[in-house]
Order: sequence, then structure tokens, then C-alpha cells
Amino acid sequence: MQTQILGMVTPLMALFFAATFMVLWRVGRMKRHVLGFGIAYALSAVGFLITHLLPADAFYLFHATQLFYTLGSTVLVASVCERAGQRFHLGSFVVVYLISALVLAVAVSFSNDVASRLIIVNIGYGVMFTMGVTTLLTARRRNVIDLAIIAIMAFQAADFLARPTLTLLFERSIPAEAYRDSIYYSLIGLVLGVKGVTTAVVLIGATIAEWTNTLRESSDRDSLTGLLNRGAFEQSMQSLLSRAQTEGRPLSLVVADIDHFKQVNDIWGHQAGDQAISSFGELIKQMVRESDTAGRIGGEEFCIAVWNCPNDPAEQLAERIRQAFVRLEHASLNDDIRLTASFGVATAREGEAYEHLFARADAALYRAKSSGRDRVENAEERRLEETAPKLKPSLIDLKRAATGR
Ligand code: GH3
Ligand code: MG
Ligand code: MG
Repeated sequence: MQTQILGMVTPLMALFFAATFMVLWRVGRMKRHVLGFGIAYALSAVGFLITHLLPADAFYLFHATQLFYTLGSTVLVASVCERAGQRFHLGSFVVVYLISALVLAVAVSFSNDVASRLIIVNIGYGVMFTMGVTTLLTARRRNVIDLAIIAIMAFQAADFLARPTLTLLFERSIPAEAYRDSIYYSLIGLVLGVKGVTTAVVLIGATIAEWTNTLRESSDRDSLTGLLNRGAFEQSMQSLLSRAQTEGRPLSLVVADIDHFKQVNDIWGHQAGDQAISSFGELIKQMVRESDTAGRIGGEEFCIAVWNCPNDPAEQLAERIRQAFVRLEHASLNDDIRLTASFGVATAREGEAYEHLFARADAALYRAKSSGRDRVENAEERRLEETAPKLKPSLIDLKRAATGR
């Protein structure tokens, strides 16, 4: 009776971890690999339950347990690979599985001794986990948590490859009917428990770390455009400024504001206005380099930190965005309506604080507004000559355009 109860510890623990991963996946709206961890633990729990609850002499027992362990291991390795953004080679796993099954079938037909079967299936799992480790090692991103996952997978692989052979050095042969009384069987419960817990602790830690990262990320993002919000932009600008100082690189700031935006809201409604803001954000995202940082710092005001970029090319970038925005169609406004935006550009001076740099760029933006809008003004000495468009586009008389009168 006592053994019966003790034997339930491992499957119940696996079920508990399965439930934990599934709750984390659901509540944290996390990526598919977290659900994968849950499924892997649930499949292993079924394997443990079959081993524990079915009669020892049931002829399908061995195959049924191995099937669930194999599926569990495959889903686990696939999920850690997916987490690391690496392609999982299901085909290679199927090949390993088929080879193990074939060798196993031959072994079963030759002898009633489970020792050889155990070595074969465990080497199969060992190879699967080793393949997982080699795939993880090819991933570019590697922090402490990634390393802990690689270590735990390597530990699994080493255990599968070495333990059966080592145990069976002591216990030469295990007749099928004496399997549950073998040293191997008593040891396996302990080993599976330890491996199950350590792997789960590492994966739960990794999942919680991912969750907090996502939360931090989303609290830094503006929900309409996906760009950084004001606070996050200012923070990242502070650190870019000090990096620019120490590395001696130029850093420019572009400030942009959509022209006559109040009228857009007044004529087409707030939702149409939101869509226009979102399109402008999308355009900025597409037109800046990966090393640049863009943020929405107010209603229809945007900022771009142009990294490693002197004043001239930063002004040209602003001009390209201005021209692209003028051409942009807005589905939520009338067909022929085009919006415009004004821009201010400034480049950080030696030791300049963010507030001062922003004030200079903002003053240039103000100049762009007061000298007719739809243009780029530069806070530095020279000015771009042809920023002012020859023809004033559409927003001059939006009311007439909207009402047709
Ligand atoms: P200007 O050319 O001088 O910039 O004129 P403007 O009408 O754009 O003036 P201003 O920048 O003062 O007005 C911005 C307006 O943007 C005010 C507010 O009603 C609107 N707004 C602010 N945030 C949002 C938002 O999230 N969605 C929408 N639809 N409108 C917003
Ligand atoms: Mg405006
Ligand atoms: Mg504004």
C-alpha cells in the first residue's frame, strides 16, 4: 500500500507541473512553447500512470509507456527549440524513433530480458535530447536562462545515455516478471522525480522571466502604434545620449507633429483620427533603421532618436518621412484627402542634456508650424532649401472636402 501511494508521487507531480504551465500559458497569454511544456508534462504523467497502475504483466504495458514518454520528450524538446527560435527537426526524431523501435522489436523477439530493451529505449531518448542540445547551441541569443535550459537538457541526455548501462552493470539481467522488484525500477522512480522537478523549476523560471519581460515591454509601448511611449522614449534617449558621448558618435533627434489634426477629429471622428495616428506610426517604423528608436510622445506627436547619425542625414530622413506621409492614403478619411506633418531636427551637442536637445528640436518644429507647416526645420545652422512644398496639399480646407461644399 505504501509503495502504491509513493508510486503516485511522480505522476501527480508531473500533472501539477502540466497544470502550472497551462495556467501560465493561459493567464499570461504566453507563446505556444509554454503550452508545449504543459503538454509534455501531461504526456509524461500518463506514461508514469500507465507504468504504475497497469498490471506488470500486461504485454502492451512497455509499448504504451514508451509511446507516451516518446511523445512527451518530443514535445518538450520541440518546445525548448521553439522558445529559442530554432527550427526543430521532427524528421530526425522520427528516424531515431523508428530505429529504436526496430532494434527493440528484434531484442524482444530474442529474449525475455528487459535489460537490453531498457538500454535501447534510453539510448533513443538520449539521442533525442542530444539533438535538442545541439539545436539549442546554434541559437544566437544566449542569456543565463538559455544556458540553464541547455544545461538541463544536457543533463537529461547524459542521464538517458549513461544510467541504464551503469545500473545494469550491477544488475546483469532483469527478467520481465521481476522488473518491478529490480534495483533499476526503484532507481528510476527517484531519477524521474529529480529530473522532472529540476527541469520544471528551470522551465517555470524561464517562463516567469519571459512573462515579466513581456509585461515590462508592453508597459513601455504605446498601444495604438506599438512605438515607445513618452516615458520609455525619454529613458532610452537618456541612455543613447550617454552612449553617444562615450563612444563619440553623433545622435540626432527628429520631432514630428501631424498638421491640423484637430480638424481630422472634428470632421471624421476620433476613430478616424486614431487610424491616421496609427498609419503615421507604422510609416515611421518602416522608414527608420533598426538602430534608431521611435516613440509616440503625445497625441499626434512623434520622436525619432537617429543613432550614429549627423545632422544632415537626419534632416534628409525627416524629409523622406514627410514626403511619404503626404502620399499616404487614409482609408478612414475621404479618398482624396492627404495629411501632412511638420518636423524639427536637432543634433546633440557635446554634453547636452535630453531636455535641452528636445527643446531645440521642438523650437525648430514650432518654426516649421509657423512658417506654413508640411516642412522640415533644422535647429542647427544650415537649413534644407527645398523642404517647403510648392503646392499646399489638402488639409487647408478640410471642411469643404468633407462636405463637398
Ligand atoms: P497643428 O498643425 O498646429 O499641430 O494643429 P493641430 O490641430 O494638430 O493642433 P494640436 O497639436 O494642438 O492638436 C492635437 C489634437 O490631437 C488635439 C487632440 O484632440 C488630438 N488627439 C490627441 N491625442 C489623440 C488620440 O490619441 N487620438 C485622436 N484621434 N486624437 C488625439
Ligand atoms: Mg498637430
Ligand atoms: Mg500636437
